[in-house]
Amino acid sequence: MLIGVPKEIKTHEYRVGLTPESVRELVENGHQVLVQTNAGLEIGMFDDHYVAAGAEIAGSAEAVFARADMIVKVKEPQPVECAMLREDQILFTYLHLAPDPQQTHGLVESGCVAIAYETVTDDRGGLPLLAPMSEVAGRMSVQAGAHALEMEQGGRGMLLGGVPGVPAAKVVIIGGGVVGTNAARMAMGLEAQVAVLDRSARRLQELDFQFGSKLSTVFSTRESLERHVLDADLVIGAVLVPGAAAPKLVTRQMVAQMKRGSVLVDVAIDQGGCFETSKPTTHDAPTYVVDGTVHYCVANMPGAVARTSTQALNNVTLPFALALANKGWRQALADDRHLLAGLNVCRGKLTYRAVAEALGEPF
Ligand code: NAD
Repeated sequence: MLIGVPKEIKTHEYRVGLTPESVRELVENGHQVLVQTNAGLEIGMFDDHYVAAGAEIAGSAEAVFARADMIVKVKEPQPVECAMLREDQILFTYLHLAPDPQQTHGLVESGCVAIAYETVTDDRGGLPLLAPMSEVAGRMSVQAGAHALEMEQGGRGMLLGGVPGVPAAKVVIIGGGVVGTNAARMAMGLEAQVAVLDRSARRLQELDFQFGSKLSTVFSTRESLERHVLDADLVIGAVLVPGAAAPKLVTRQMVAQMKRGSVLVDVAIDQGGCFETSKPTTHDAPTYVVDGTVHYCVANMPGAVARTSTQALNNVTLPFALALANKGWRQALADDRHLLAGLNVCRGKLTYRAVAEALGEPF
């Protein structure tokens, strides 16, 4: 199969669909890979590396789309990319179609076979192609929070881990899923005092088992949440209610009562945010202050560490890309119900119920 990797064209997107390492794996399996020139330039994955891995370099996106049997990307195709897709061509990338009727219609009209990273499932009921970005965002949230606690950023001027004789900062993480667990791990590594709140008793048991007595696990109620938030130096919002907007757990009133210079990092901002005072920010201007509390609400945190994010994403997408290339989409989807769960659009038809319902389209 000929696999095509165009350069991402969404603003500030530096990730790339396949690393040179993944290309080599595909080539060793007997496939051809066509990579658009400079696709990985900004993250140090140069054309030379791709050529050494066995890829051919194409001068333009048009050349990649025209020749490839399967396109592997990171972000949803932009309108000019949708227009280049064709009947039976496989598109393997993040799509997020539910809020995006324009893209959905573009994909349906193209006749392509679009498999969305975000709806591929696993045996444990998880979303394995979303998890690495949550791992990245969770780990980054502590870095971002630690920076925001510095004076220059409007923070209280606290070092997360303190020093001998000076207490560590109090970090409160709301939601103990993938983001929350990774945030807890980083904050504990920096020797902060860390508490995780979750409303799932099972999740709290798992966290307790994993981290032991160094991590404080707290069942989340209005009462416990308020108590911990008001006492915190850094609060990280990491909740997810699948398929719904994030609940506003920290109210404006609570923010007003927090210690001056404390920091809120709302990782759940891509689902609307879990603090009432949150609004999306960008890497260019990541923070703003409300009632003396610094807010960091970047909706695409993994974009700032595009090299790590690309590698983490490839670790989980490569086995599926290989299956699609080795078997063709029909057989690969027939053999693996988890990959089949990723099928959102197939040759002119919407094939994912939640997307059809969200857009009021027939299913
Ligand atoms: P997850 O499903 O692994 O974990 C969510 C946790 O929240 C679960 O343990 C759940 O029990 C808990 N929860 C739900 N409602 C709660 C409540 N009312 N009180 C306390 N806990 C509650 O999800 P995840 O992968 O960790 O993702 C968390 C959020 O981070 C999502 O909104 C996701 O979209 C977002 N995210 C953002 C970025 C970014 O760049 N900003 C990147 C990746 C993920």
